[in-house]
Amino acid sequence: MSEPFRRVALVGLGLLGSSLARAIPAHLEGVTVTGHDASPEVRARARELGLGTIHDDPADAVRGAELVILCVPVGAMGDAAAVIAPGLSPDALISDVGSSKEGVAGALARALPAHTVIPAHPVAGTERSGPEAGFATLFQNRWCILTPPAGANPDKVARLTAFWEALGANVETMDPAHHDLVLAITSHLPHLIAYTIVGTASDLEEVTRSEVIKYSAGGFRDFTRIAASDPTMWRDVFLSNKDAVLETLQRFTEDLTALQRAIRWGDGDALFELFSKTRAIRRSIIAEGQDDARPDFGRSDHGG
Ligand code: NAP
Repeated sequence: MSEPFRRVALVGLGLLGSSLARAIPAHLEGVTVTGHDASPEVRARARELGLGTIHDDPADAVRGAELVILCVPVGAMGDAAAVIAPGLSPDALISDVGSSKEGVAGALARALPAHTVIPAHPVAGTERSGPEAGFATLFQNRWCILTPPAGANPDKVARLTAFWEALGANVETMDPAHHDLVLAITSHLPHLIAYTIVGTASDLEEVTRSEVIKYSAGGFRDFTRIAASDPTMWRDVFLSNKDAVLETLQRFTEDLTALQRAIRWGDGDALFELFSKTRAIRRSIIAEGQDDARPDFGRSDHGG
């Protein structure tokens, strides 16, 4: 059994940071939580919500912490790491929750060369942001991917694994480049497609905005949920995972062209074959407990 962390510091108290601040006391008895956010408004709200001991100075927030988790947009990881450096204990373990891993691992290693850094990504979230949006069960039955650098201390990897498991997550270890490729197809590309389709609908001149909204239950509204995700977070994800996103986007464009061709030439068999394959994927996601089995995500009204 690895030794549990007694003091955990959270930097960034939005959806992910505030969910951790709620999940830690709910699952790990006696663990002290401290926090900091760059925004004075967020710090004030975090105090009102009782999300641990909140410090105005980032270095004070991490002083004495055994585990420090950076929960800021991926483009801000390097800056956030640099400002906590003066307060860090020499043996503190530094981790994060960023949605891309190769760029973040590099930024953290450059900012904190003398510290142990084990990046992580809990594959759990919603389209909401800010300290009110968090909830203690966010990580329950979700995967958390750790990307330890070569030669990482196995005891520290085991302690971080036990931490995430205690919050209800299943933990997997991966190479950061492979993580970025897997997430490009399972998360980043779907967000890019949702942002595009919602943008296209809002630009269509022949169909009015009120018609788009009125008939959205036909499928469109499911894209709008994803397309409502935080603009700063997603701008940073696409810029930091550029290569893997462009690679999967190229594959997607080729597959879309093949579908376009099948429709143009009336190739119903090709369409039927693809749609049968995709339906099986949806069934596997439900079978593995990664989504609601009820029709239309359990919503009561249905569109066609
Ligand atoms: P969020 O709700 O927008 O919260 C981020 C918080 O970090 C904001 O309060 C922001 O303040 C603050 N911040 C920005 N720069 C900072 C800095 N240098 N030092 C301290 N605080 C800083 O975002 P989130 O959804 O929690 O995302 C946080 C991280 O989790 C991102 O790296 C994201 O990729 C990852 N993630 C997100 C999801 C998801 O579904 N949302 C899922 C998994 C992982 P301001 O608003 O004033 O900038």
